[in-house]
Amino acid sequence: MYVISDIIKHLVPIKTFLANPNLTFDILSYDTRKIRTGERSLFFALQAQQDGHKFITDGYHKGVRNFVVSDLNFSVESYPDANFIWVEDTLRAMQALAAMHRNEITIPIIGITGSNGKTIVKEWLAQLLKEEKKVYQSPKSYNSQLGVALSLWNLTNEYNVALIEAGISTVHEMDYLQKMIRPTWGILTSLGTAHREGFPSKEEKLKEKWKLFDSAEKIIVPSDQIPENFLNARKVISWGNLLADKLQVLKSGISGYSTHLTLTYGGKEFNIEAPFTDKASIENVLTCILVLLELGYNSEIIKERVSRLKHLDMRLQLKKGKNNSSIIDDTYSNDLASLNIALDFLNQQNQFDKKKLVLSDFEGEEWTEKFQTKLNNLLSTVILDEVILIGERFKNFKYSSNGTVRIYETTDELLANLTQLNFSNAVVLIKGARKYKLESLSRRLTEKSHETILQINLKSLEHNLKQYRSKIDASVKMMAMVKAFSYGSGSFEVANILQFNNVDYLTVAFVDEGSELRRGGVKLPIMVLSPHESAFEDIIQYKLEPEIYSKRILKAFVKFLADREITAYPIHIKLDTGMHRLGFMENEIDDLLTTLKSQNHVKVQSALSHLVGAGAEEFKEFTEQQISLYKRLSEKIRSAIGYDFIRHICNTSGIVHNPEAHMDMVRLGIGLYGYDMSPKDLNLEEVSVLKTTITQIKHIPKEETIGYDRKGVLTRDSVIATVKIGYADGYNRRFGNGVGEMMINGHLVKTVGNICMDMCMLDITDIEAKEGDEVYVFPDVALAAKRIGTIPYELLTGISSRVKRVYYYE
Ligand SMILES: *Cc1c(COP(=O)(O)O)cnc(C)c1O
Repeated sequence: MYVISDIIKHLVPIKTFLANPNLTFDILSYDTRKIRTGERSLFFALQAQQDGHKFITDGYHKGVRNFVVSDLNFSVESYPDANFIWVEDTLRAMQALAAMHRNEITIPIIGITGSNGKTIVKEWLAQLLKEEKKVYQSPKSYNSQLGVALSLWNLTNEYNVALIEAGISTVHEMDYLQKMIRPTWGILTSLGTAHREGFPSKEEKLKEKWKLFDSAEKIIVPSDQIPENFLNARKVISWGNLLADKLQVLKSGISGYSTHLTLTYGGKEFNIEAPFTDKASIENVLTCILVLLELGYNSEIIKERVSRLKHLDMRLQLKKGKNNSSIIDDTYSNDLASLNIALDFLNQQNQFDKKKLVLSDFEGEEWTEKFQTKLNNLLSTVILDEVILIGERFKNFKYSSNGTVRIYETTDELLANLTQLNFSNAVVLIKGARKYKLESLSRRLTEKSHETILQINLKSLEHNLKQYRSKIDASVKMMAMVKAFSYGSGSFEVANILQFNNVDYLTVAFVDEGSELRRGGVKLPIMVLSPHESAFEDIIQYKLEPEIYSKRILKAFVKFLADREITAYPIHIKLDTGMHRLGFMENEIDDLLTTLKSQNHVKVQSALSHLVGAGAEEFKEFTEQQISLYKRLSEKIRSAIGYDFIRHICNTSGIVHNPEAHMDMVRLGIGLYGYDMSPKDLNLEEVSVLKTTITQIKHIPKEETIGYDRKGVLTRDSVIATVKIGYADGYNRRFGNGVGEMMINGHLVKTVGNICMDMCMLDITDIEAKEGDEVYVFPDVALAAKRIGTIPYELLTGISSRVKRVYYYE
């Protein structure tokens, strides 16, 4: 706990309003949605996509009494009992506080940077060291300007060593991270070649990353990534193929599923079997080996521990559970910081009323009184219906909340008693340390996943949403299109995230899609594009808002409402300005207005139209005509009915290319999922990845044929891989005979022969691959769509529902 009056000078305040300088805090917060214990928080109003000052009231209601702000005009009148500290820049102030806290840390801190592999090296090092050391690690991929400050904040001297990740995307950022972390040792992982991020050249990027090591005593690095001026520096400890490398790789060869490495260190030769074959993993393993050697571990111990490393998914996943449940699987590591993040995610899920937690013991933590208090504090912040604890030390743990508690000594004991437990109608967070192998529980509780899955990254979805938010004014509302199962990517799973991110509206195509979202706990207003008369009852029951596109549907809906004596029900008027699909044409407006004015059962919530070719240069003029026609028609409606409503016309392309037409709201569709055809300067992330695995490999001689109708004639002796995805899964039959390309181990391979219903075959003659290897079905969605004469929208929405969706939040 820190006292406000003690820390205030570190923030370099411009002015202050201190109602009570003796207040204490131990949590840094910046997002009021995630505040669960406000009275212990110091809130920073960050200036990010949204202005943090807007959320001060919310924070205050949640108990926060300490605020760091930057807006000099911000009025504190309504908060007489709270402390306010004005600073130049709130993020830098938070960093200054993190640096102050770091100054009290005396244990060694290892700072890890690089473009690829930072998180893996951090996680692996933690696994390798945990047997005898108490290891603190920055949670997940918390490596940004904000993430590093938060990571350092929870570090204490009770640990033996800390692993802190530092990530940068442009020049000068490392200066700030270096000042906070001041690593005792530094590690540089692979620099990557694919993209230079925000750097003018590869050299600049390397130089910037090396800034982290300014005050480090030791720098552990691959020898091909040492800048000129550091080449002979004594503190640089390198690995590589050179004689000068302290850890030299003499030989490396792949056999089966592992790589055999012959190494020398300090004049001693030894062998290590690394359980990986890909280049990136081997680089990361070598980095870890060198760190362990430098820490004084002998090669026998290293050999044994490296052999146990696994290429596990370290990401938090959300899956559909058996018996009507959702399973959040976060079973790679367990510490308070990552438990906190997982609890946040659990809190965002609204699809079932009950929330349950399965929690293993923590590795490398002593069961001090203090630790137990911290754990209890954390658990008390979420309303948990049931808590299942695994590990014998929990027997002495006094859980302070109300819900049911069960304790098992081991995961096996829990699994043996599984039939006594009930996880139905609940969201279940499974959080465990590696050695408890809780993924076996997760497997038992989730529906079988076949070889083909669609992975959906909810963090990327959030990222894309932010990108488009940066293109609109703060006053413009955001409607997110979640029709067609969110463009193929999911229902409440996606909608819950959008709701958490404060979008204003959701839109579905049909009433059933809307009612499913309501049953999944979504509270946002929902517009329905194609309401059918037979579904009016559900529209009312689930509080959905219909788009009204014709006089016929308007009359029918008004009559339906009149029969039930409902007034002022929100509707959305669709205007046809050129799409000629649904909507009122200009010559139908008078008639529409007569009907609207003759009743009080509906209220116009918004009027919308749809652009047919926004973003396309050749339709620029047509787009402008649509916009001006829309403005004219909507103004006519407004003056006739005498009240205001939300006006909107822009879809994804319109948001980027027609900023003058944002009006009151925009409708974001395909861009949310990462596929804008002309995104201008946006940097979008792909949200869904369709993956399968190689089921069988065959060696087939020249002139034989592959598949139905003997279409795939081999012109050479070939190696053929069969994968379990076919046209019934949404892999279009037109992708057959070399039109479709998939990616295996980084190489593109073509289809051979016709696509079958549930499978297809790939020619893998030119690449290294084995049965079980992962296959990316659409390495480039836009290109794949073009090859068969369609658009990404069709490929995405065509992925059939039998392909399991697995959600990630990392
Ligand atoms: C689908 C749809 C959108 C979203 O279009 P994108 O091109 O995916 O952004 C917007 N408005 C309406 C009426 C739609 O049907």
